[in-house]
Amino acid sequence: MSSIISYTACPVCGSSAIHYALKAVDHTVSGESFDILQCANCSVRFTQDIPDSSGIGRYYRSEAYISHTNTRKGIVNNLYHLARRFTRGSKKKLIRRTTGLSKGDLLDIGAGTGAFVHYMQGAGWNAAGLEPDAEAIKNAAALFNVTLKPSASLFELPSERFDVITLWHVLEHVHSLHDYMEQIKRLCRPDGRIFIAVPNYTSYDAKKYGGDWAAYDVPRHLYHFSPASMEILTEKHGLTIKRIQPMWLDSFYVSLLSEKYKHGRGNILRGLWNGLVSDNHIFYNSRRASSLIYIISR
Ligand SMILES: [Zn+2]
Repeated sequence: MSSIISYTACPVCGSSAIHYALKAVDHTVSGESFDILQCANCSVRFTQDIPDSSGIGRYYRSEAYISHTNTRKGIVNNLYHLARRFTRGSKKKLIRRTTGLSKGDLLDIGAGTGAFVHYMQGAGWNAAGLEPDAEAIKNAAALFNVTLKPSASLFELPSERFDVITLWHVLEHVHSLHDYMEQIKRLCRPDGRIFIAVPNYTSYDAKKYGGDWAAYDVPRHLYHFSPASMEILTEKHGLTIKRIQPMWLDSFYVSLLSEKYKHGRGNILRGLWNGLVSDNHIFYNSRRASSLIYIISR
């Protein structure tokens, strides 16, 4: 039996100083609306009255949920795949620049259909991936000949096993947030690096679109992080944020989807324009980017 989680305290810092922030609609699967609350202490936002981990599955069952299915229908999906190809290369460069390594042991948590694991294997890395969705694991084998392990393996892998651990837009989906943080810390070598990419609700485009901001993606996104809340979360687990890197292309993609949600159809030009305006703001303040990569050490 699944049940509904109604938070009475902040899921990141435990403070009971939580209050209503805004309402957002699930545009991709259910059409249901959810309240988003905010913590006055650490500033994280989170989705209220969410299904627990055994009940959330039905909110992922949509052809529109492209990171699991690799569908190429529609211009927004095509842009997603184009951006993903480009982003893969810049992630690899970022990892190399940050760690000084051009190969090593890498774990991608929430690997989807295995595209990034496959890409990094091709670049000479000993890359492995974990994925909660059985269908995505099958797709990874069929599409890329990549063998992903189920998420539970996170708790079984040997300690200090990886030079690099990546979570590309994954942490905001995870019910057992603090267990994940502890395991990630355990699996990372003392001189290793952890790369966590999450949407940033303090971004320019989040402010502009409000409840229509595509990256709220309720109820699949359980937490909506700010840089300040990520600092408190990592500190709580004895980890340190070394650097924060904006994800430039995400602003475009999120603006395109948000335009679609706001006006009921995609206005490509306006979406691109807002993406561009968003990136201009980021030029002046990189912490205002739609998504941020936190580069973390033990
Ligand atoms: Zn908090």
